Amino acid sequence: MGKVLKDVVCSFCGCLCDNLEIAVENGKINPVSRACKVSISRFVNYNKDRVPYPMIREKGGLVKTSLDEAINKAAEILSRANWPLIYGLSSSVCEAHRKCVELAELVGGVIDQTATVCHAPTILAFQEIGEIHATLGEIKNRSDLVIFWGCNPLDAHLNHFVRYSVTPKGLYISKGRKDRTVVAVDVRETRTTRVADIFLRIEPGKDYELLSVLRALINGKEIDLDKVAGVSMEEIRELAEKMVNCRYGVIFFGLGLTMSRGKHYNVMAALSLVRDLNKKTRFVIIPMRGHYNVKGAGVVLGWQTGYPFAVDFSRGYPRYGPGEFSAVNLLANGEVDAALILAADPAANFPVSASKHLARIPTVVIDPKISMTSLIADVVIPSAVSGIEAEGTAYRMDGVPIRLRKIIDPEPGVLADSEVLQLIIDRVKGVR
Ligand code: SF4
Repeated sequence: MGKVLKDVVCSFCGCLCDNLEIAVENGKINPVSRACKVSISRFVNYNKDRVPYPMIREKGGLVKTSLDEAINKAAEILSRANWPLIYGLSSSVCEAHRKCVELAELVGGVIDQTATVCHAPTILAFQEIGEIHATLGEIKNRSDLVIFWGCNPLDAHLNHFVRYSVTPKGLYISKGRKDRTVVAVDVRETRTTRVADIFLRIEPGKDYELLSVLRALINGKEIDLDKVAGVSMEEIRELAEKMVNCRYGVIFFGLGLTMSRGKHYNVMAALSLVRDLNKKTRFVIIPMRGHYNVKGAGVVLGWQTGYPFAVDFSRGYPRYGPGEFSAVNLLANGEVDAALILAADPAANFPVSASKHLARIPTVVIDPKISMTSLIADVVIPSAVSGIEAEGTAYRMDGVPIRLRKIIDPEPGVLADSEVLQLIIDRVKGVR
């Protein structure tokens, strides 16, 4: 066996597990311990489906070109556009995010990140109500009531249970799982609901009602109903009592809350409930973030522009416009006339109307791997895989910044995202 590296960070999901052991030998990477199934696949297959070389579109097809030529073409597209869009970011590192902001300002474009289609309602609710927050370490050490609302970590964040939230022993949780009550609230049965102590199966789109009734109960109000959101009042009262009587509670929530009817009103109701619970006990709330650095994208945009997503620079200063400057709306309405996509695949997951416009306008893709978006792009520039072939900073779902290491060299000539972006910035400055 070659060398074995300890404390390697997995740059796949928002858990950013930083305790992996990875064996590296002859350019192959094999996780030795603590990697989940998804992580093993990421490391073992990091070199599959790669963008083989820089490409530009000619006569309808993508053809091989030099990095220099691809950078020139990218700079030309962005410089000539009236209102270009820069989108993606969440599967890249903070150093690249900074460059994206710089480029957006330089070309007078819009910058948006993938939170726009997942936890944007969470961000809006935080701005409205505020956030009662904790690190995952604090959850591990203190939480005796863990509620998963509209999320399914046993399928989406595989190590979350064992590392942070359910089974680990902590400073004040000496027996681990036995010291915790686990509650799942969802519209359907999932792997997470099956292992929970309590499962509240709610009717789709009724989260706001259930959260509001829980809030009324913990504030001592009488509710004269048999059922709310399809859940009996007996079960709701039992949960309200557990919430008030726990020593340290946490709600982890996912897209089942943010993307169902009510959207940011749902999250505002959850935040208000947690705020009220803190009059009686200690309670925190944490969104389950998907892409490994979607949290970092919001942090970097926040500190660089003042706003976490949907930021427009067309007037020379940052303007915030969720909905108005959100990538999906700009594309579906045919408003932007060029795009740079960093480490994302909007063509595969945006609505058809938005994807069709993306295919019509000149598009630059920077990505280590072939994606649907790269197949419709006009310029495709390969980049190193962050956390494997390039170092950088990423923010875990609880807002803790973690340094990603480079554990293997990329192919000669393949640069990190931030280096590619810097070359484009330099070229745009030369073109202008
Ligand atoms: S839970 Fe997420 S970050 Fe942790 S090892 Fe699995 S995929 Fe990687």
